[in-house]
Amino acid sequence: MKLFTPIQIGPLTLKNRVAMPAMHLNYTPEAHVTDRLINFYVERAAGGASLIIAGGCAVDEVSGGRFMIGINEDEYIPGLARLAESVHEHGALIAAQLYHAGRYAHSALIGQSSISPSPVRSTFTGETPREMTKKDIKNVIQRYADAARRAREAGMDAVEILGSAGYLIPQFLSPVTNLRQDEYGGTFENRMRFGLEAARSVREAAGPDMAVIFRVGGNDFMPGSNTNAEAVRFAQALEATGIDCINVTGGWHETRIPQIPMDVPRGGYAYLAQGIHENVSLPVMACNRINHPDVAEKILREDRADLVGVARGMIADPEWVNKVQAGRTDQISLCIGCNQGCLDSVFTGQPIHCLVNPRAGEEEKFQVMPAAKKKNVLVVGGGPAGLTFARTTAERGHKVTLYEQSDRLGGQIHLAAALKERREFMSLITSLSSQAEEAGVNVILGKTVDHDLVVKEKPDLAVIATGGKPKPAPLAGSDGKHVVQAWDVLAGQADVGQKVVVIGGGAVGCETALYLSRIGVLTPDELHFLFVNQAETPEVLYRLATRGLKDITLLEMQNRIGNDIGRSVNWIFRQNIKRAGINVKTAAKALEITDTGVLIEKNSEIVDIPADTVVLAMGTDPVDDLYQSLTETGTEVLLIGDARQPAKAYQAVHEAFAAALKV
Ligand code: SF4
Repeated sequence: MKLFTPIQIGPLTLKNRVAMPAMHLNYTPEAHVTDRLINFYVERAAGGASLIIAGGCAVDEVSGGRFMIGINEDEYIPGLARLAESVHEHGALIAAQLYHAGRYAHSALIGQSSISPSPVRSTFTGETPREMTKKDIKNVIQRYADAARRAREAGMDAVEILGSAGYLIPQFLSPVTNLRQDEYGGTFENRMRFGLEAARSVREAAGPDMAVIFRVGGNDFMPGSNTNAEAVRFAQALEATGIDCINVTGGWHETRIPQIPMDVPRGGYAYLAQGIHENVSLPVMACNRINHPDVAEKILREDRADLVGVARGMIADPEWVNKVQAGRTDQISLCIGCNQGCLDSVFTGQPIHCLVNPRAGEEEKFQVMPAAKKKNVLVVGGGPAGLTFARTTAERGHKVTLYEQSDRLGGQIHLAAALKERREFMSLITSLSSQAEEAGVNVILGKTVDHDLVVKEKPDLAVIATGGKPKPAPLAGSDGKHVVQAWDVLAGQADVGQKVVVIGGGAVGCETALYLSRIGVLTPDELHFLFVNQAETPEVLYRLATRGLKDITLLEMQNRIGNDIGRSVNWIFRQNIKRAGINVKTAAKALEITDTGVLIEKNSEIVDIPADTVVLAMGTDPVDDLYQSLTETGTEVLLIGDARQPAKAYQAVHEAFAAALKV
């Protein structure tokens, strides 16, 4: 595979073409390198990554706050040296990402106003930064150089200048945020000046033995801002500064175009790297949603980039590279782009974790060790909780049988993956199933387990992961023939009329409303055909691709829909719902389902919303009958997942994993 051919980045030879780009981890609450950070990166180094880019490392006091990795004072050098040495010992090279957030820094975290080329309010922070003086500019350029010198003294192999995602350097590059009249503003040449000066100063401070990487945004995806054409010009100018590699990512944090969730097709932004790769001679790295080795290999084979960045992919599976190299691709825990454990934790100020990998960030605490005493374990239910428990106990040496009453594994994940842009959820089940099989779990499909079967089999431990069921609606009329459950709609098992009211605006309600809104829209093939033949105007195609046949109303009692959806993706749900023309009524209480619709109370008024079909999305009840029937039998029984307490897949996987380590 081309993935495993070495590549030269300036003075460095990378043993393969898979790097782990920087991602904020929140493992350094006091800016100093911690054991937690080292343990995290060491596993990724041992897992085969050729280059680990650690970061972001704050170059000064207003870069982002103390929870970034500190590189702004010499006091941080010993910790950085410990990190570099540990990563080297496990076979990878390491770079420090030099980070300055500019107007993306929250004043509450840096204790003063953030800085930027111009005082343009950020929708990301809701704050207006202070305009940088010439003295500020010179000072920050020097701080980049000082940081590079510290990385060198710490024994790092490279530094990466962060010039993407709407941070300080792109704030200079963009006419949206740079309104200056001096030599740092106005023309594109002037707006590039700050980034190029930073590159030159870092290049000089890094010296000849360190590589200098520059991370650029391939397109800001911001109205009025830079596109791939400007990114190419900037990359060409960077090449002349003597840097060694360009790492290409997507748009700003403020963009309304999703950048990394599962909505983005795998490798969907490789074209941004390709645009730059075609116009520079430096090695170029492609990033964003490269979670599967086939996608990575294809990008390299098609010569769209020289190397790939797999960031969340290696949070999800530190052994990503080694597994590919060993021909065990099916054993990789693929990143599903859910953001539930990583980005959503960043937004709430928590250390990051991972839905599919409960060990991420807990490498020391959670070790999958052989069990002291081998047991016969019977698991009932093949959803994420049951599968995780079965796989993990089998990996620890227990003899495990998993029963699933349907003819397929996955449980409710099939519903979560019903929307085409949420299909990546199924990778969780694909990965877990393969891992369970390799670990030796005996999987029996299509078999309903009852009390007698468990008693007859006499397991040492019976684990009940029978999942949940839709909550009944406490509404008059909810037993009507035209009333269906959201789960049945998502499973494609319900007849749904033209006028639809969905009651419940949580994740399941939003997904169901969107699912129904897609009925009658152009298929991807139809859209592609009509687009390339210019058969319709872009406006007509947009309407045909977003507006389906049904008239849908989504009701929610609270003031906002999607309250149980993480911050990093709930805006995408709301945007898609608006785009689909779904009529959203918040702060609306359903009072009664009638033969012709739903009576609701909103703003102290009673309103009748006509409907042919009413869809209930009002929560989940546990299915724990089997557990209750076994509690008196003397069999050791454990209740996990939704069967114990309905929650998200994240909780199901984490709870099951932790429980499996105790058996
Ligand atoms: Fe990927 Fe989700 Fe894990 Fe984040 S939490 S690394 S998006 S699988």
